[in-house]
Amino acid sequence: MKLPFRPLLLAALLAAAIPPAVADDAAFARCLTELRGQAAAKGVATATFDNHTRAIVPDMAVIAALDAQPEFTTAIWDYLAALVDDERVADGQAMLAQWADTLAAVEARYAVEPAVVIAVWGVESNFGRNFGKRPLVQSLATLSCFGRRQPYFRGELFTALQILQEGHVDAERFTGSWAGAFGHTQFMPSTFMRVAEDFDGDGRRDLIGSVPDALASTANFLASAGWQHGRPWGIEVRLPEGFDAAQAGRKARRPLDAWRRAGLTRADGSALPGGDENAGLILPAGPRGPAFLTLKNFDVLFSYNAAESYALAIAHLADRLRGGPAAFHTAWPTDDPGLSRAERREVQQLLNARGYDVGEADGVLGTRTRRAIAELQRELGREPDGRAGRHLLDYLRRPE
Ligand code: CA
Repeated sequence: MKLPFRPLLLAALLAAAIPPAVADDAAFARCLTELRGQAAAKGVATATFDNHTRAIVPDMAVIAALDAQPEFTTAIWDYLAALVDDERVADGQAMLAQWADTLAAVEARYAVEPAVVIAVWGVESNFGRNFGKRPLVQSLATLSCFGRRQPYFRGELFTALQILQEGHVDAERFTGSWAGAFGHTQFMPSTFMRVAEDFDGDGRRDLIGSVPDALASTANFLASAGWQHGRPWGIEVRLPEGFDAAQAGRKARRPLDAWRRAGLTRADGSALPGGDENAGLILPAGPRGPAFLTLKNFDVLFSYNAAESYALAIAHLADRLRGGPAAFHTAWPTDDPGLSRAERREVQQLLNARGYDVGEADGVLGTRTRRAIAELQRELGREPDGRAGRHLLDYLRRPE
């Protein structure tokens, strides 16, 4: 979901490592009183406001998450290896089959292909398995009263309360990310109000309890952002010798004809399509890695969550769901590729077996796993970057 300040997954996970500030309960109470006075003007009945805020205490962990700086940076090949792995492709194909009728109806109404909608679902909540567990009103009330961007979060809080007031979602299930994104495809409340759809026809727009509502709302978001049905998101390309990488940039759009004249070809060396359609050029790992001309649909995916790596993950997963290859034509510029979630779980199991306590092997490389890896790397005399890649897994698989 579009949140300019939303960190990538890693930063959110590491937020827990930062000790939260101590809540000032008196300040919170004063703030809530002030917000209560504004509620009616924001379309929230005072009784609704009272019902849902009466018992809440501030959750300062969300303020820590707002201010978290990533402790480690994530290489694009690590990011994609976990988000677009064989497991998510298989799960996505099962969902395409299970929800085929709904997806066909969604495509007929919103003109967005099933694989794209399913790809967003898979990346945002792992197909409904991970909604985020923080009570939404508590998170948004805390963000409304402490920290940066309080005006923005106040708007989201009042909108969240409107959603409850209108009975779209069940209050006890209204949980989400620290920033207030919720449901199968992690909408912010304001996005809900703008594009959420009641597709199953029960009178509620329920993005938590109804898969049809969530899939249709996601398609409606993409359609509203200008999705072009049946068009590709981009083209993997090969750069000519001596290409000036300063010409790259998603927004540095030029007509396909101009890119052809500049010497770009498809990644397999065949000619690019010509024409006056504008395309940007992205080099997610620099000029030695895969290169892509990006078209309008890539920008639409970018509008869902403002990160090129994110848009590329959705685009690539959608392609794989339609039978596309696992690897890009050009390899990532590394001899130590990233790991799938299954391989990450194996790393964690092997670390636990060696006496490092990384907790449950859940495939999520959080602070504990990263620190254990850094400790092992130090013992081995390697750079302690805490990263789990192919080399580390190969090492751990060897008998001690
Ligand atoms: Ca509904």
